[in-house]
Amino acid sequence: MMEIESPFKEIVDEIQELGGDAIKYCYQCGKCDTVCPWNKVTNFSMRKLIRESTFGITEIELEETWRCTTCGKCVDNCPREVRQIDDVVALRRMATGYGVSNELLKPVRSATASLSAEGNPFVQDRDKRADWAKEPGVQLFTEEMDILYFPGCLPSYDIRLKQLALATATILNKAGVNFGILGVEENCCGESIRKVGNEDLFKRLAKDNIKTFIEKGVKRILVNSPHCYHTFKNEYPEFNVHFEIVHITQYLCELIKEGRLEISKEFAKKVTYHDPCYLGRHNNIYDEPRELLKEIPGLELIEMLETRENSLCCGMGGGRIWIDTDMEERFSNIRIEEAVSLGAEILVTACPYCIVGLEESRLGLGYEDVIQVKDITEILQEVI
Ligand code: SF4
Repeated sequence: MMEIESPFKEIVDEIQELGGDAIKYCYQCGKCDTVCPWNKVTNFSMRKLIRESTFGITEIELEETWRCTTCGKCVDNCPREVRQIDDVVALRRMATGYGVSNELLKPVRSATASLSAEGNPFVQDRDKRADWAKEPGVQLFTEEMDILYFPGCLPSYDIRLKQLALATATILNKAGVNFGILGVEENCCGESIRKVGNEDLFKRLAKDNIKTFIEKGVKRILVNSPHCYHTFKNEYPEFNVHFEIVHITQYLCELIKEGRLEISKEFAKKVTYHDPCYLGRHNNIYDEPRELLKEIPGLELIEMLETRENSLCCGMGGGRIWIDTDMEERFSNIRIEEAVSLGAEILVTACPYCIVGLEESRLGLGYEDVIQVKDITEILQEVI
């Protein structure tokens, strides 16, 4: 292990205490830079960021500190187990602690205030969180129900993403699942606010959700968002609680295998599947979405070049969903171009964040009549 000599030892110590301890193992091979999606659209060096961290000279107010989308590709490929995401989050925690504030972080400040006041990052009223559920008549969760459905912030509020929540409710009703929601008592899972370095607010949101889960007798939780999945499954156990977390793609496979959900219609389209980072790389769920798509008669599934473990990030993770990215620097543009070049009629995924990024690119590139972006639930609802 390399001993770090720096005139800024206090800062190095702080970074390491805030979670960036493994930076000391870096031997500057640069492998992280070869796999980082930013280097497809601009110049960004994770190797340099790690190097600067080891000497305590990172300029935490610059965009470099805020670029990482936490896709996990560098972590998976690092020969020294440096855990680059932990370093990035440590730097952002430092910046949050020092009250770093600039134009780039303005939307993060707005999301922070809204999360604190209303439990969502979109400056929306808490009272409206369950408005989407009125028309399908979704009930509030009670202890005797099979499963808690936790739609999360985007499907609860966003006009496009509400379609996911509605599709999910339609499928669950058709399969006769006895499910309910938390309604206005649901809070953001806290994943993105933690990744931008606000640990206190993450803990507050997590504790509020955990308290509600316990009070309501929740044991099993169904989510659409891989970000909620990851946080509930891998981070909430830090509070000594364990709930069974199920992603919608896993649950739909389960319902089909049990004979509770029948696919009765054809879907004669050419479809390609985009692996969300937090479903695939972070949680190893690659097969279930593909199994579901292969169950659908007429659907032709084609694979993109960067798929499964090598999937290209959409660019919306790590809090980047709140930070503006220049149109020409969006990874999602590359994804859309690739899907179009393969002749896919539909680019399907299983993550609300990915849909935001991919839809913006689809429309920004002028492909509205060429390809559609859909969540897997939106296809399933059409064929049952
Ligand atoms: Fe350092 Fe790992 Fe990046 Fe190599 S891949 S430069 S060891 S962080």
